[in-house]
Amino acid sequence: MAKFVFVTGGVCSGLGKGITASSIALLLKSKGYKVFMQKFDPYMNVDPGTMSPIQHGEVFVTADGCETDLDLGHYERFIDEELNYTSNITNGKIYSSVIEKERRGDFLGATIQIVPHISNEIKNKIYEAATTSGADIVITEIGGTVGDIESSVMMEALRQFRLEQGRENTLFVHTTLVPYLVGSNELKTKPTQNSIIELRRLGIQPDILVTRAPIDLGEAVRSKIALFGSIPAENIIEAKDVNNIYEIPCNFHKQNIEEIILNQFRLKVTESNLKDWEELIHNVENLEGEVEIALVGKYVELEDAYLSVKEALKAAGYKYKKHVKIKWVDSEQLEKAEVNIKDILGDVKGILVPGGFGSRGIEGKILACQYAREKKIPYLGICLGMQIAVIEFARHVCGIEDASSTEFNEVCKNPVIDLMIDQKSIVNKGGTLRLGNYECKISKGTLAYKDYGQETIYERHRHRYEFNNQYRETLEAHGMVFSGIHPDLNLVEIVELKDHPHFIASQFHPEFKSRPTKAHPLFSSFVKAAIDYQKKCK
Ligand code: GLN
Repeated sequence: MAKFVFVTGGVCSGLGKGITASSIALLLKSKGYKVFMQKFDPYMNVDPGTMSPIQHGEVFVTADGCETDLDLGHYERFIDEELNYTSNITNGKIYSSVIEKERRGDFLGATIQIVPHISNEIKNKIYEAATTSGADIVITEIGGTVGDIESSVMMEALRQFRLEQGRENTLFVHTTLVPYLVGSNELKTKPTQNSIIELRRLGIQPDILVTRAPIDLGEAVRSKIALFGSIPAENIIEAKDVNNIYEIPCNFHKQNIEEIILNQFRLKVTESNLKDWEELIHNVENLEGEVEIALVGKYVELEDAYLSVKEALKAAGYKYKKHVKIKWVDSEQLEKAEVNIKDILGDVKGILVPGGFGSRGIEGKILACQYAREKKIPYLGICLGMQIAVIEFARHVCGIEDASSTEFNEVCKNPVIDLMIDQKSIVNKGGTLRLGNYECKISKGTLAYKDYGQETIYERHRHRYEFNNQYRETLEAHGMVFSGIHPDLNLVEIVELKDHPHFIASQFHPEFKSRPTKAHPLFSSFVKAAIDYQKKCK
């Protein structure tokens, strides 16, 4: 039977609860335990798939095709394990499944109530994550802040879970803020005290406290929190602000967080293997120079909308000891008549067009792609970025002037990007995309083959439209290479250009498989090409 760590948050949001949960999981994994992670989101959406990036940042996609909270990206990047449908549970998912069961008659006429029906469903999701993953330890993060109305039933389920499983099998980590008052030059413990009281009101006593503070707590503050919180002083783990988030697990390790957890679980405390992680920190701290890459999107004021792409670029930079400086370019800006594209993209050493939905800013992305193709600047297109590359090539190289996607122009005469016939009747917007892992066969002798070094790959998808195969011959004749194809469905997965030093685009999202310790091949070759191009420019 698995053991369970629950991570809750108090005082305010944005304290790094997700990083705390991931760090704990990483540290337990480094001691040889099989770990699995879950995020509970207290909102009523069934999943974040239909939420605007403005509301929620990026949608992270798991290998089995779930559209999930961006925290799952942190989890996968930290623990380097694939998560799945049991990993992101929302109130919407819980309620809709209980209501579906009620309609089906599963409850045999009972009155359906928040407790026990909703709380049971939540507990079942925790057990399901444990049984399907076969993990030794499941780490579950609860979104929001203690005291929120939305998460109260989730907290109630955790209280019951502790009763069912006992202290030896469950452990509560609570993250709080210890603010520093500038005038009186002191740390204040009251918000933390109150947050623990709030948690106790729900029937939960934390076992470990993770305190976020700008400076060391010091003995006096630590003892005070320990006393008021009924927590042993050594179970207070300090999460001091850091420059580099990868240091957080190592800071926790120095404070023996794994030992505290394993002792409570009566599991063996083994040696840690943090070699790869320490090497990563070393690399990040010893970067030599930078390379600038433009990311052309429509939510560039909101870096979280492209979180995994940003992390994947950074990781590729670490591999070559370079800081990847991202120039965030608003695609709509490029469309303005008074804007000279050279002023914006003239100095960058690579151009990346990431995924996206809807027609706003499309023409600007096409202009950026055209600039990369014509000026021979390394280009990486992701999902929409591949569709843009196809449209641009069809229009400006093959002379199909009105080439477009039916997503932007439903009555377009030359839909080089289109829906597949069996998709045309879809009305639901949620969960109806091509999602998750699909196989892709790569042709030998192509850039993609050079990058991956193998013929069969699996990558994650999240899109509705596809390359329209009716145009394959024409585009091929003009120099576009279709280097990756889905073998059964004959769908185009990767395109590249013959006549260009580095131009590649994929229908899938490689960023979801990148890890800070293992850069993704498409990102590392792109960043390498940008570094080479930079040398040539000098
Ligand atoms: N909007 C495009 C489609 O649905 C691309 C989606 C994406 O970039 N994730 O096919």
